[in-house]
Amino acid sequence: MGHFYFSAPGGRPFSASGCKRIILKFKEEQSGSKPGSAQLFSVIANLIRFLAVALISNNTTALRIAFSPIYRYELPPKHRFPMDKYTLLPEQLLYEGTITAANFFSPRSLPEADILKTHTAAYWHKLKTNTLSAKEARAIGFPMRPALIARGRVIAQGTLDCARIALNGGGVALNIAGGTHHSFADRGEGFCVFNDIAIAANVLLDTGEVGKVVVIDLDVHQGNGTAHIFADEPRVFTLSFHGARNYPNRKPPSDLDVGFPDGTTDAHYLQTLYDTLPDLLDRERPDLVFYLSGVDILASDKLGRLAVSLAGCRERDRFVFQTCFDRNLPVAVSMGGGYAERLATIIEAHANTYRMADKVYG
Ligand SMILES: [Zn+2]
Repeated sequence: MGHFYFSAPGGRPFSASGCKRIILKFKEEQSGSKPGSAQLFSVIANLIRFLAVALISNNTTALRIAFSPIYRYELPPKHRFPMDKYTLLPEQLLYEGTITAANFFSPRSLPEADILKTHTAAYWHKLKTNTLSAKEARAIGFPMRPALIARGRVIAQGTLDCARIALNGGGVALNIAGGTHHSFADRGEGFCVFNDIAIAANVLLDTGEVGKVVVIDLDVHQGNGTAHIFADEPRVFTLSFHGARNYPNRKPPSDLDVGFPDGTTDAHYLQTLYDTLPDLLDRERPDLVFYLSGVDILASDKLGRLAVSLAGCRERDRFVFQTCFDRNLPVAVSMGGGYAERLATIIEAHANTYRMADKVYG
C-alpha cells in the first residue's frame, strides 16, 4: 500500500484492528465540555497538511474523495448536528489505512451559473445577501453566515467533481459531505442549503455529459427536495428508501418511494433493497448513479426510527456498490445524515461506506 500520513506510536501504520482505538479516542475527546482551540487547530492543521500532500502527489489510487476543511462549519455549543464528523471521518480513514492522503482532492467553489441551473434566482439572492427571513433560516437549522454559503458551494462542486471522476473512468468517487436532499429550488430546510445532487445532475444533463441518471437515496429521511426538483424531469429517476413516519411530513413523490415502518430491522430492509435495486438499474439503464449514503437508518440513531444494525448498514453499502460495479455504472457518493447517540458510531458507519467502496472498486 502507499504511505501512511498518520502512524501509530513506533512508526507502524494503524491496522484495521487499530481503528476501534481511534474511535474510542474520538469519544473521549467528545465527552469533554468543549473542544480546546489548540486541539481544533491541530486537527485543521493536519487536514491542511494532508491536502497539500494530496495536491503534489502523483500517486493514483482507486478511491477519489472530495474534502476541504471548509466542510466543518462552526456551530454553537450543544447544537444537535454532529459537525465534527466532517473532520473526524477523513482522519479515521487515514488512521486505519483505508486511504492515504493521495486519495483526497479539494473542490473549488461552485460557479453562480451552476447554482442557478437548480435554484431560483430569488433564493440565491437571499443566500448571497444573507437576507433569508428568520423563518426561512430556522427551517434550515444552521446559523446563517457567509461561511455557510461558501461551504455549501464547495460541497456542491465536490459532488459534481465526484460525478465527473466516476464518469471518466474512476468508477466511484465520494464526497465527505453533501446529500443535502431537503433543499428545494427555492428554499432550504433540514440542515440543507443547496441540493448538491440536483445541482450536479442538472449541470451534467445540461452539458450532455449524461443523458440519464438515477438517484439512490438511502438516507432515512425522504428526499423531498430532490423529488420535487425532478418531478417533471424524465432524465432523472429518484429512488428514496426512508422511514414512513419520519420527517418530512409532506413527501413529494419520488419516482419510487419505499417507506419503512418504525423499527425495521436488517432482514426486511436488506431484502427490499435486494428486490428493488438490480431490476431498477436494469430497467432505467442510467449513465450515472448518485448514491446518498446516510447512516441514520441505524437503530442507535436519535432521529431515525428504524433499527438497522451497523453490519446491516455496511451490507447495504456493499450491495449498492457491487450492484453498480457489476453493471459498469459510475457512482458518485454524497454522505447524508447520521445522528447516532455516540459520535464514534456515526464515524464507524460512514467509514464503512468508504471501506465497502474500497473493497468493491479497490
Ligand atoms: Zn437523514
